[in-house]
Amino acid sequence: MSTNSDISFRDSVDQMFNQAINLMDLPAGLEEKIRVCNATYTVRFGVRLRGSIHTFTGYRSVHSEHMEPVKGGIRYALSVNQDEVEALAALMTFKCALVETPFGGSKGGLCIDPKQWKEHELEQITRRFAYELVKRDLIHPSQNVPAPDMGTGEREMAWIADQYQRMNTTDINAKACVTGKPLNAGGIEGRVEATGRGIQYALREFFRHPEDVSLAKLEGTLDGKKIIVQGFGNVGFHAANFLSNEDNAKIIAVIEHDGAVVDAEGINIENLSKFVKKHGGVRGFKDAAFVEKAESVLELECDILIPAATEGVIHPGNAQKIKAPLIIEAANGPITAKADAILQKRGTVIIPDMYANAGGVTVSYFEWVKNLSHIRFGRMQRRQEEARHQLLADEINRLMRASGIKEQLSSSFTEAYLKGAGELELVRSGLDDSMRTAYQFMRETWHSRSDVKDLRTAAYLVAIERVADSYRTKGL
Ligand code: GLU
Repeated sequence: MSTNSDISFRDSVDQMFNQAINLMDLPAGLEEKIRVCNATYTVRFGVRLRGSIHTFTGYRSVHSEHMEPVKGGIRYALSVNQDEVEALAALMTFKCALVETPFGGSKGGLCIDPKQWKEHELEQITRRFAYELVKRDLIHPSQNVPAPDMGTGEREMAWIADQYQRMNTTDINAKACVTGKPLNAGGIEGRVEATGRGIQYALREFFRHPEDVSLAKLEGTLDGKKIIVQGFGNVGFHAANFLSNEDNAKIIAVIEHDGAVVDAEGINIENLSKFVKKHGGVRGFKDAAFVEKAESVLELECDILIPAATEGVIHPGNAQKIKAPLIIEAANGPITAKADAILQKRGTVIIPDMYANAGGVTVSYFEWVKNLSHIRFGRMQRRQEEARHQLLADEINRLMRASGIKEQLSSSFTEAYLKGAGELELVRSGLDDSMRTAYQFMRETWHSRSDVKDLRTAAYLVAIERVADSYRTKGL
């Protein structure tokens, strides 16, 4: 998609940051300290592949070390550049502060088209990149903990973790050097779905506040809401899947790199996902109308628009035409600063990226804690919890019998009530709590200050205040 944005992503983030900082009373020096990226490391390394040496360029940027480790994904894309990685690192700082994950912000990237390389080649490249970062403590359980981002996933994280382990054979906490690993390599249940799940929890929380819902000129619940999803990768798929299956929302359009599919009655997301896995795109999917000009689908009537791909897809060139009254930014930076101003003028409510897509880093936090504690969540309590529930259920049934009541607790109730929480239930509960709490902080600022007109500014205010507090307490 064309970005049609006249300023860079980094400038766009800075501009939004400045809008918030203008409403705060921070000393100018501290303001500047929080704005700037502390360091960006650029590495160029060669890998011998297909008979010749290929040179790759990678980055790891550290935005703020007010808390350590610093945290943020590693992106694989040809478009990766320093400006982008720095903007994303800054967003990580504010995201972590907003959802109270105890990390500073960082981000990494490698200029590569992962589709052009075979798996064993990608492994070689990833291990070499990881080697360069580990050598400089830019991958380290207590200094800098990467995670998946666009173009990377569990597979790459497993290679990175293994590379760190090979270089630090006596580090008992080695697994905590990266998150988003597969379960059998120290990962956690629910990490893959986490960002999409976070979108669902964020929307559910939004719809718990009728006052906010009416500001978006909507009403009711998620039930029956018409949703457009742009980007059908890990985040877009999970968000669409949960919202349609569990909240009865209608996914009326999905926009992908090769076109879009549209069906006013709602698209079957599982079927579409199977199709995309097999064919690499949405073109040819029989159960919905295909639209070649995918970008125009962003402008269709709907209740909620979920941009879930990359930055800059809503820009001054199309912002005026976007009809969705509510946009939730599942991607990082999908709306440029200028487009944001246009949409705000039109009264569009935007649930901002730093909050909306924080589900990923929140569950990464749980994974990191799991790795450091060397035990799966729920392992100690689950059966004990079940035994206590059993005691209570037995006692209620006994009392009912003793009082001559023939009814007993129903088996469906007993079964649901007895089941102790496993890791997945605990992760989801922790994520839900984090998303609800962060939203409440944001909306409190949004509604209590007349100079705060939107959720993004509110999110920045809450996050910057926390980062500033941390610098004030600990010193620079
Ligand atoms: N890449 C994801 C993000 O942008 C996840 C980061 C993490 O888990 O550290 O939030």
